[in-house]
Amino acid sequence: MAIYEPLPAKGERRRLQLRSPVDLEVIGEIECASAEDVRAALERARKAQPEWAALSFRSRARFVHRFMDLFLERSDELIDIITRETGKARSEAISMEIFAPMQAAAYYARRAEKFLKPRKRRVAGMLGWLKQLRITYRPLGVVGIITPWNGPIALAVNPLVQALMAGNAVLLKPSEVTPLSTQWMAGLWAEAGLPENVLQVLVGDGETGAALCEAGVDKISFTGSVATGRKVAEACGRNLIPCTLELGGKDAMIVCRDADLERAASGALIGSCMNTGQYCCGTERIYVVDELYERFVDAVVERARSLRQGTSGEFDVGALFWDRQLEIVEGHVDDARARGARVLVGGRRNPDLPGLYYEPTVIVDVDHDMAIMREETFGPVVAVMRVADEEEAIRLANDSEYGLNGNVWTRDKEKGFEIAQRIETGGVCVNDMALTYGVPEAPFGGRKTSGVGQVNGKKGLRGYTHEMPILIDRWGGTKVQGGYPYTRKAEDGTLAFAKRLFGNATLRRWLA
Ligand code: NAD
Repeated sequence: MAIYEPLPAKGERRRLQLRSPVDLEVIGEIECASAEDVRAALERARKAQPEWAALSFRSRARFVHRFMDLFLERSDELIDIITRETGKARSEAISMEIFAPMQAAAYYARRAEKFLKPRKRRVAGMLGWLKQLRITYRPLGVVGIITPWNGPIALAVNPLVQALMAGNAVLLKPSEVTPLSTQWMAGLWAEAGLPENVLQVLVGDGETGAALCEAGVDKISFTGSVATGRKVAEACGRNLIPCTLELGGKDAMIVCRDADLERAASGALIGSCMNTGQYCCGTERIYVVDELYERFVDAVVERARSLRQGTSGEFDVGALFWDRQLEIVEGHVDDARARGARVLVGGRRNPDLPGLYYEPTVIVDVDHDMAIMREETFGPVVAVMRVADEEEAIRLANDSEYGLNGNVWTRDKEKGFEIAQRIETGGVCVNDMALTYGVPEAPFGGRKTSGVGQVNGKKGLRGYTHEMPILIDRWGGTKVQGGYPYTRKAEDGTLAFAKRLFGNATLRRWLA
């Protein structure tokens, strides 16, 4: 039974019925925004945006704080909606969908003014004496944000607050797998008094997302799979608009010979199984040096056996969020098993639970011919491979089309830092599972097929603006520099001056 199924369309609008992955009961239905709906929303957003952009940073931040207050007051509602909609553990609903987005919202509400206020920048050389350069950060206009299902609130609030604080209006298209929590969140912005049409949520499927990319927005912030990312990039290329693409991953974990075994084993479990393994920077493949391998596997197996899976109350590992993902996870484990891998824990659907539950799984004797070590699994699977040494681990970590994040485990922090720099990936954590998305100061973005562009922090926030240089003449006078008429005398003078200035090593440095 699929998590979403088509219902008879209403005119132009496709309709979908949604079920909970917890027990497959119906939890709602949505009407997908049509291309015409998207265009109309864009028109409304265009009208609303100038007034929003005209507000001071402080005024805009006040709306963010009001939203945050409501969000925190009513967080129990969100926990109910999101655990039902996704099947994730309550603990993850709190850490990922409440704590992380609140941190991001607080950060950008406070820092936007500092990062985006106009500033003077020194101009090098002779021009510095003649001109003053000011940089301003102009809102782009209307930004389209397209989100996936694995972190519906975290992955919406972060770009949303950045785009809003930068003075843009936003059209937000949540995943068709998890639209209900986003609709709830949008309602809070309205209650917080956000001016009408500054944020509009367009629920829908891939066609709605495609229509948003074609509608004429000024930027797309996309988070999702590599396959869809390529389509979004093509559409943005065709329409000559910027986009950031935060895509899939196959993050490697390297366990060095001097790793703290207990910490590494616990990191392997949470890195692989958090959010039921559906975390873009989740640990997808683990390379352990020979000396530590047996003890590491024993420690991981012991911990994996103690993980609790459930539908309510206290448990550790929740459901997979939709049927398609469950099939992918099953496919990867079955393929690995057929090629000689050994499943030490789990490796099957949980027969005792009604919904989309796959047991936390530990699998060893895997290699790079198996899908489980090459393609994104996105499930609660700890896949461990023995390597001769750290050099082999680095080589294998780099043997991937993905490069989103990764982690290195060693007691020697400097060695961890050195190894981290040799991994061809977007970011690395030493002695932790991947946490960089939650650190606003850390530029976040994938290499290889894991993405284009970086988000978060000062640079990410500025990505929601046009960085506009304004060059102001300092001195005036009736004739502009280099103006007409051109004369031989002036040309020869300029040439001689250039030779004297740039031909002298000291002056050349002074002018640079
Ligand atoms: P997806 O690509 O299937 O869908 C993402 C969004 O794109 C959805 O809202 C979907 O409706 C929309 N969409 C589908 N077709 C579209 C089109 N042609 N044009 C525009 N929009 C379209 O991804 P998913 O399955 O929802 O999400 C899981 C993927 O997201 C995983 O690969 C995961 O690694 C990745 N992800 C990456 C990050 C990151 O920061 N790099 C974060 C979270 C998830």
